[in-house]
Amino acid sequence: MSTTVITNTTTTTENPVFGHSSFDEHEQVVFCQDKDTGLKAIIGVHNTVLGPALGGTRMYAYQNESQALNDVLRLSRGMTYKAAITNLNLGGGKAVIIGNPKQLKTPDLMRRFGRFVHSLSGTYYTAEDVGMETEDMDTIREVTPFVTGISKNRGGAGNPSPVTAYGVYMGMKAAAKYTYGSDRLTGKKILVEGVGHVGEELVRLLSEEDANVYISDINTDKLLEVQEKYQAIIVDNTQIYMQDMDIYAPCALGATLNDQSIPQLKASIVAGAANNQLADENLHGKMLQQRGIVYAPDFLINAGGIINVNAEIAGYGEEEITQRTENIYHTTLDILQKAASDRTTTLTAAMAIAKERIIRRKMMN
Ligand code: NAD
Repeated sequence: MSTTVITNTTTTTENPVFGHSSFDEHEQVVFCQDKDTGLKAIIGVHNTVLGPALGGTRMYAYQNESQALNDVLRLSRGMTYKAAITNLNLGGGKAVIIGNPKQLKTPDLMRRFGRFVHSLSGTYYTAEDVGMETEDMDTIREVTPFVTGISKNRGGAGNPSPVTAYGVYMGMKAAAKYTYGSDRLTGKKILVEGVGHVGEELVRLLSEEDANVYISDINTDKLLEVQEKYQAIIVDNTQIYMQDMDIYAPCALGATLNDQSIPQLKASIVAGAANNQLADENLHGKMLQQRGIVYAPDFLINAGGIINVNAEIAGYGEEEITQRTENIYHTTLDILQKAASDRTTTLTAAMAIAKERIIRRKMMN
């Protein structure tokens, strides 16, 4: 049997979907294509026990289809546990569109994608993710109601990124409280990797608290803009993990915690927005634990965005969005303490709570 290796995963060419190592009892994997607009997308619906699957659409220049499939399988699964641990009545789903958004994205392509979302009749609700903007959600809204994160002036909850950043900030503070005995971040050396929608807002919050903020990004223009706005210090992309720092905040793409980076990492805390930060959940969660690095699970602390977009479905307002997002502080602290008392990794402790909620609901259904 021949095997194709795809960034930390294996799959078989004979069974590329159900046999994929990132396939985990997903309910639906929908492949969508449209020749006229050049659309090639995959929608992953992982689990709908708690409610309709909700998760953003990522548009990215994947090197190949296998990479895109791997991403949608991992991201949609992560959304299931994110909703579960955040006490939302939502399932987990995600979509990926293959292609560079700067070159391929057009309103027609967005509308065509929206029609595919609509064809799932509300099993899946989409929202923003990497490569997407609030106006793209407005365009999708023209053809389907199953989209969140639309503009405030169109009755939506708007861009979820500031709320995501606020939740990450709450989770980071909880991890600081657990590690240093105080949640004050003043004077702490914090490296934010990726200063996009979420990363830049996190830099703003940290700067307001007089943390020493270090930044890295592959987009030089963005890097210089954020440096000038917040007097943050730029770190060369090749020097990130050996940088002397207290807290590492991954806010770009996933899998930056891996065999190469963890042994070099000087931080005592990892707390960031990126989804799927651990290249291998079990292996790299344990590696961090063994090195005494406190890891605030990504799917727990980056839930601000889903809390924000869920407001459009569940019908709550800004006050409740803030209150639910601030609650990430308490949940994170509880999980870090539970992991220590159970002598397990923080990821395992968080996953156990999320899975228990899904099992309980399944038994009630
Ligand atoms: P974004 O596209 O606005 O920003 C990502 C930034 O990372 C960009 O500036 C990009 O240039 C940079 N980047 C890409 N590769 C990099 C690399 N190798 N090294 C350094 N920088 C790199 O995306 P975003 O909306 O800010 O989301 C950031 C992360 O947070 C993503 O993993 C996303 O899935 C996750 N997330 C976002 C939200 C949200 O509300 N936007 C919610 C939950 C999770």
